[in-house]
Amino acid sequence: MVLEHEVEVGLNELDRRLEKVRDVFEEMNILITGGCGFIGSWMCDLLIRWGSNILCIDNLSTGKIDYIDHLMKTGRFKLINKPVEKVKEVEFRPDVVIHMAARASPEDYMMHPVETILANTLGTYNMLEIARKHDAIFLFTSTSEVYGDPEDEYIPTPEKYWGRVNPIGPRSCYDESKRLSEAMCMAYHREYSLDVRITRIFNSYGPRLRWDGAYARVIPRFIYQALMGQPITVHGDGSQTRSFTYIVDTIEAHILVMTDNRARGEVFNIGNNREISILELARIIKELTKSSSEIVFKPQRPDDPKRRCPDISKIVNMLGWKPRTELREGLMLTISWIKSHLTASH
Ligand code: UDP
Repeated sequence: MVLEHEVEVGLNELDRRLEKVRDVFEEMNILITGGCGFIGSWMCDLLIRWGSNILCIDNLSTGKIDYIDHLMKTGRFKLINKPVEKVKEVEFRPDVVIHMAARASPEDYMMHPVETILANTLGTYNMLEIARKHDAIFLFTSTSEVYGDPEDEYIPTPEKYWGRVNPIGPRSCYDESKRLSEAMCMAYHREYSLDVRITRIFNSYGPRLRWDGAYARVIPRFIYQALMGQPITVHGDGSQTRSFTYIVDTIEAHILVMTDNRARGEVFNIGNNREISILELARIIKELTKSSSEIVFKPQRPDDPKRRCPDISKIVNMLGWKPRTELREGLMLTISWIKSHLTASH
């Protein structure tokens, strides 16, 4: 597949925003897990463009080879097609290890709870060991799910909140294993002085987030339904909230975390502090796609967090990052990307 127009636009924007730090990545060796996924493939595109050498570990369980096949041709990108929990050694000397591999879609991880746990436990352990051996920086992409379903008084949620997670509920395979990964990262930091950096990502979206199939996250799913004239399926009464961050902003934050040494041993919320209900989201998507789809209500998901909104003051104050893409602008780019894929597949 050739680089999609909307991705190219985003990468150009990142070139501009990150002009001061991009040189650091020239000739850098980066081991990335989950590099064929949504966020990972954006990261790979950017880093290859900036001159890095990448070894990617991905079993293509949720990622797509289409997103990275143009990178193979550069000769600076290699793929190991294996689950991360099975990779103990690599013939590569990484300067940075980015551990992103995970099944992040609730419907997906609830169907594959064991694999989900293995990638976030044994997988994290394997990658930490590789980072330790080479004294590499270890970037772990964690999740807002470590907070579970916070009480209202912890919305917006700061990093120091400990979370309210059901340890045996259907989401626990993801939430608890991400929490254990964070604990493991901090243990390596304390015991071996490994340079670990943790991000907690709050509902990022944009081109390349899966729109097809039963596992699509809410934004691409609503867009697909709206474009196809199918009912837009809101779970529960739609009053539950999320805070959505456009992929370009998410990637920018990760680059800053990787390049700023004040981030060593730290954890950062990465998200948007604009909270929106799922019903309002459905209405906006219907409007932007000019769709005649009706909005229908389906049963609520088990243990679905009622509100999710990050307190981002830590990353704003420490690293000078903030989300800049307006929701409607990011949605239009996502709609345009999904439209071109629908056209190509028909
Ligand atoms: N959602 C929905 N309809 C759908 C898919 C999701 O109403 O067809 C809701 C879901 O119940 C949750 C929110 O949208 O409240 C976000 O779901 P997503 O799967 O994107 O991931 P989450 O933020 O829960 O991890």
